[in-house]
Amino acid sequence: MITQTSISYYGLNYVEHAEADFKEMKAHGVTQVILAVTEFDFDFWRPNIPAIVDKAHELGLRVLIDPWGNGKYFGGEQVSKFLQDNVENRQVSALTGEKLPYACFNTNSYRDYFKNFCTTLAREAKPDGFFWDEPHYAFPKGIASITGGVADDWTCYCPVCRKRFEDYYGYPMPRYMTNDVKQFRWREALVVLSETSKALKEIDPKLEITCCVHATQNGYYVSEYRGYDNWDMVGSCPYFDVFSTTIVNWALPEDFYLDITRRTVAIAKKYGKQSERWLMGYYKQPKDWKQVDRWVDLAVAEGVDRIAAWTYRGGYGTVVGAPDALKLWDTIGENYKRVIRG
Ligand SMILES: [Zn+2]
Repeated sequence: MITQTSISYYGLNYVEHAEADFKEMKAHGVTQVILAVTEFDFDFWRPNIPAIVDKAHELGLRVLIDPWGNGKYFGGEQVSKFLQDNVENRQVSALTGEKLPYACFNTNSYRDYFKNFCTTLAREAKPDGFFWDEPHYAFPKGIASITGGVADDWTCYCPVCRKRFEDYYGYPMPRYMTNDVKQFRWREALVVLSETSKALKEIDPKLEITCCVHATQNGYYVSEYRGYDNWDMVGSCPYFDVFSTTIVNWALPEDFYLDITRRTVAIAKKYGKQSERWLMGYYKQPKDWKQVDRWVDLAVAEGVDRIAAWTYRGGYGTVVGAPDALKLWDTIGENYKRVIRG
């Protein structure tokens, strides 16, 4: 049974405009808003964020705050104020030593910045929870992955990561990805999210945490190694409540979508979490609109608890809008209304 139907939303400037959009979401069967709060929003629009969360609550919508694209460590098109303000604490290429436009989330500088961003919003805006949106190391996107080519380079080889690696293993960090490097990357990647999630639950134990990782195969031959591809490690984190996997392009085979969906539900059940699957509600649309119905039915049949789509109005008016953005939004809305709470 589907218990939550979510849509992401990044139009959060004026309360009265958000109110109209929230009413449209309600009419599309949405129960939960994934509020994409950028670093600029946090820095500039702070007074209106609590008022917008209040308005969503008043209209009967749950709200999860998504630190969208924060540090470019999370997924998203937004620009990062952390990177603008810090020339250090960036992820570094293992092969070339170049500093990259991604915050290194293993540095105390970024960990403090991120925790403060979230705990401040928890206290001021009082959302229902937080949404960790495609956290990742810069490289590799894929070791022969379905979404990218073969990758040799990887991150992070910054001074902080290298020192921590050597302190732990007793030898210098290699420049090639060994099993120790993989384990180190998985373990360190979870620290920033675990610590922040724990801090949020200490503010309010009812705050709910969704961790949404890339929808990758992670098989014997194919894995992405972006830090959160070890789903058992992510699923077993005691501070996460919902295990979620991200969008699969409509053009990919249904078997791939089914495989991701099954493994998502299996990991969630294994660790006593809710499961969530995402639909592509922007950029691309299916050739046959009935594919939306079929993929939603498939999620229901596989026992998914929550479905979500990126984004409000199919990305209408943005560079990542679907060709028929409003039709995609309406189609997702029809499906939400069809399946919400059985
Ligand atoms: Zn680093």
